[in-house]
Parts: sequence; C-alpha cells; structure tokens
Amino acid sequence: AGGLMAGKRGLIMGLANDKSIAWGIAQALSNAGAELAFSYQGEALKKRVDPLAAQLGSKLVLPCDVGDGASIDALFDGLNTEWGGLDFLVHAIGFSDKEQLRGRYAETTRDNFLMTMDISVYSFTAVARRAAAMMPDGGSLLTLTYYGAERVMPHYNVMGVAKAALEASVRYLAEDFGKDGIRVNAISAGPIKTLAASGIGDFRYIMKWNELNSPLRRNVTQQDVGNSALYLLSDLGAGVTGETHHVDAGYHVVGMKAVDAPDI
Ligand code: NAD
Repeated sequence: AGGLMAGKRGLIMGLANDKSIAWGIAQALSNAGAELAFSYQGEALKKRVDPLAAQLGSKLVLPCDVGDGASIDALFDGLNTEWGGLDFLVHAIGFSDKEQLRGRYAETTRDNFLMTMDISVYSFTAVARRAAAMMPDGGSLLTLTYYGAERVMPHYNVMGVAKAALEASVRYLAEDFGKDGIRVNAISAGPIKTLAASGIGDFRYIMKWNELNSPLRRNVTQQDVGNSALYLLSDLGAGVTGETHHVDAGYHVVGMKAVDAPDI
C-alpha cells in the first residue's frame, strides 16, 4: 500500500481496548500504510488485543509485562526473529496504585513510588535500548505523557512526578540515539476517557474543566493524538527530537480561566 508509512514496521505497546490512546495511534499509522506488531500486558488482555490487531491486518501479537526484564527480552527476541528490523516504536504504558491517584501526593508510599517509576518511566528506557538495537537505518520512538508533569493537576500525584522523569528521559534518550538517526519524542495528551484515566480521582471534572478552558474549547480525541503521532513517527517529523509535543487543545498555554468559561 502507498502512504506516508508505506514499507515501515513498528511495535505498539499499551493497547488494552478500543478506548486506548494506543488504538488511535495504531489506526493512524495503519491508515498511512505501516505494518504493525502489538504487545499486550497479560493473558486477560490478549482476547481484547487479538481482534483489534486483526482489524489492522497485524499478525504479530506478543505478550510483554514491562515490569519484568526477561519478558521485555522475550518480546524483542520474538520481534527480531519475525522482522529482523524495526522503524518505530510506540510506548503507551503507565501504571500506579489508584488508591494513590487521589488525596495528597505527600502520602505516596515508597513501594508505589518505585513501582510507578519502574512501569511508567524505566520501561521506556528499557524498550528504547532494545528497539534502537534493531534500527540500523534510524527510526523514531514515541511515548505518552501528561501536563501533570509540568504543573500540579488534581489527583495526578506520583504519576506527575513519574511523567516529569519520563519527559527528562526523552531528552537524554534523544541525545544517546540521535547520532544513529533515531528520534525520541513524547506527546503530552489532554485528558481522554480510557481505562487508565478512570483510575484518576474526579476525572470527569478534569475533562469538563479542560473542555471549557482550553483555547479550542473542546477535549482532544484518540484520533487527534493518532494524527500527531503519525507526524512524529513519519519522515514529516524528521527534524524533531527530544520534544514534548502538546496535543491538548492548547490547554497548556492558558494561565487563567477565561471570562466566558462557565463555572463548573
Ligand atoms: P489504557 O489503560 O488504555 O492504556 C494503558 C496501558 O498500559 C494498558 O494497555 C496496560 O496494559 C498497559 N500497562 C500497564 N502496566 C503494564 C505493564 N506492567 N506491562 C505492560 N503494559 C502495562 O490508557 P491510556 O490512557 O491509553 O494510557 C496510555 C498512555 O497515555 C499512558 O502512559 C498514560 O499515562 C498516557 N496518557 C493518558 C492520558 C489520558 O487522559 N487518558 C493523557 C495523557 C497521557
């Protein structure tokens, strides 16, 4: 098939269901002609991911729990055997104890802090290294972040601290792999109703606030994120690396609630 991504192969990590941000990204890439592989977290998700992957004509659906180094190795061994090389990777994975995505950040436990950093931050570095080893002709890596990394957002707590570290790792990885023609970027997405987001306290209120106060006066969709991901993962983004690109209807530029925005 023709298209911006014709002849390119990539791995999508973090598809849970058809509400996942990973699904919006996968659809945009597939429509542009990319060939996709998917990884899923555990057996319970396999039955959700299999039919979605099939919809996009993907035959490679492999398990991977990013908390386990051996599981990451097995994923990339499998991918190497099937494909030999890789052009892009999407990391759409994050996790924290939802009991600590409400109340005060100050109450975060050491165990949950370390687990959140491991699953939501270190995993990107771990997969980036293995993906880069499969990209002799260059490539593009993408992760997902949120404005809670830059400013205090209600209930985001330890996840905000983790996303700040994730954005910093994007910059360091961009330098490490830049010499090899491999670009590393993040999309900072506005709030979207997904499985992971439903764990965050008062998420409906956060969505409404963003809708009423962002310059575009709407929330972003999976498709909005998918199309921006296509730009960063394709040659259209060839000059862009180390960047945190906001796809948030402009919310991050606003300093104060607009006069015409209703109270909620
Ligand atoms: P989602 O629940 O659809 O996706 C989260 C994914 O993380 C799931 O597929 C889950 O299986 C995976 N995951 C969790 N722990 C894992 C582990 N140990 N090993 C492998 N996979 C694991 O939710 P989503 O909102 O699409 O989340 C995707 C990314 O987007 C996350 O990084 C999230 O923080 C980020 N993000 C989401 C929003 C939003 O409002 N939904 C906004 C900005 C950024």
